[in-house]
Amino acid sequence: MTTVIKNLQILSMEKENGSIKPPFAGNILIEGDKISYIGDKLPDYSKLAEEIDGSGMLAMPGLINAHTHAIMTLFRGWGDDMELMSWLEKRIWPIEDKLTDADAKAGAALAVAEMIKSGTTAFADMYMFCEQLAEVAANGGIRASIAAGISDNSMDKLPDIVDFACQYRGSADGLITTMLGPHAPFTCSKQSLTMIAAAGRRYNLPLHIHLAETLTEMEIIEERYECTPARLLADCGFFEGNKSLLAHGVYLSDEDMDLLTGKDLAIVHNPISNLKLASGIAPVAEMLDRGITVALGTDSACSNNNLDMFEEIKTAAIIAKVKDLDPTVIPAAEALGMAITGGAKALGLEDVGELKAGMKADLILIDLNKTHFAPEHDLLSHLVYAAHGDDVDTVIVNGQTLMRSRQLLTMDEEKIIAEANKTAKRLCYNK
Ligand SMILES: [Zn+2]
Repeated sequence: MTTVIKNLQILSMEKENGSIKPPFAGNILIEGDKISYIGDKLPDYSKLAEEIDGSGMLAMPGLINAHTHAIMTLFRGWGDDMELMSWLEKRIWPIEDKLTDADAKAGAALAVAEMIKSGTTAFADMYMFCEQLAEVAANGGIRASIAAGISDNSMDKLPDIVDFACQYRGSADGLITTMLGPHAPFTCSKQSLTMIAAAGRRYNLPLHIHLAETLTEMEIIEERYECTPARLLADCGFFEGNKSLLAHGVYLSDEDMDLLTGKDLAIVHNPISNLKLASGIAPVAEMLDRGITVALGTDSACSNNNLDMFEEIKTAAIIAKVKDLDPTVIPAAEALGMAITGGAKALGLEDVGELKAGMKADLILIDLNKTHFAPEHDLLSHLVYAAHGDDVDTVIVNGQTLMRSRQLLTMDEEKIIAEANKTAKRLCYNK
């Protein structure tokens, strides 16, 4: 498959003298799953190529949602503004007990369709029903890093979970990768955490865990082990010989920061979820100053309540400023970088995150013909502070066009919405 996109602006996310190269005019040639050329002149290409007129558009690398629970999109709006424990006990756990494979697929499809429609080309997930999610993601054509959530209650399933992770990694032309998903320091015992980290090292599987999300978690771990959650993970071997994706990191002491600095890990900042659940504001500017990789995530649609990464980018930039009472922290380029290059690093995607020859063709086209993009003083600023998911016109992943002129090409949007509504009605109201 060859695709040519002509006459557009390109934000490659490549660095030039330490900063992101400004958008430039050019053309993009995609051959197979890779970008083969970017520039003002086009080399010869197949006569069968799909041609896209890019005038009035801007191409940029696809966004990466580095922490979500896709299937929970089914529970969007089912209990907002509640305390976490009563929400789980009254709203979520009773429904989760009833979820079937078909329900999980309906939720996964809703999430994948929403992600594609808002410019996400890869995501990292932690939940149950991993085979169903892998199938839906592969059919939709999006990249997914899938981790089965593990807590003390499900440690007996660890061998099966490791089997799934080893079997599925690299499947669907490399779209699917896998991790192990110890749920959190307070739902997994020290022994479980140590065993999962050891399995990660043995089978070369990264770890995806929630870390230091709330003050309650800090109190529980302090009471149990007289240390912080980050220290606990270090003691369980998470940062030696393992690659870790740590969701949240809202509460990190100076010693915790020292533990995390220089390690093969990424923190995933979920600013909207942290605000909505009143968890706190993660010290992202300090993490970045220390050279820690920071990615962005939406968390589940229950605590957000959508999967629009453009909202996440803007929120990350603005809450960092109010946290430090300093409007110069996390400038636009840095916020965008977290959602693209930071995300690629967090998911271990080496040939994703920049638009240049040889990289995977994971890119999105933004329709610039919108009131909120005028005047065009600074497109990078507009992408961070003015854009939203609906501005995405076209989505290409691994060389395959998944959306064109806002029409999904690999999924039936109408059917997905109807199925999700029907499923949620049955689960929530027994109808
Ligand atoms: Zn989460």
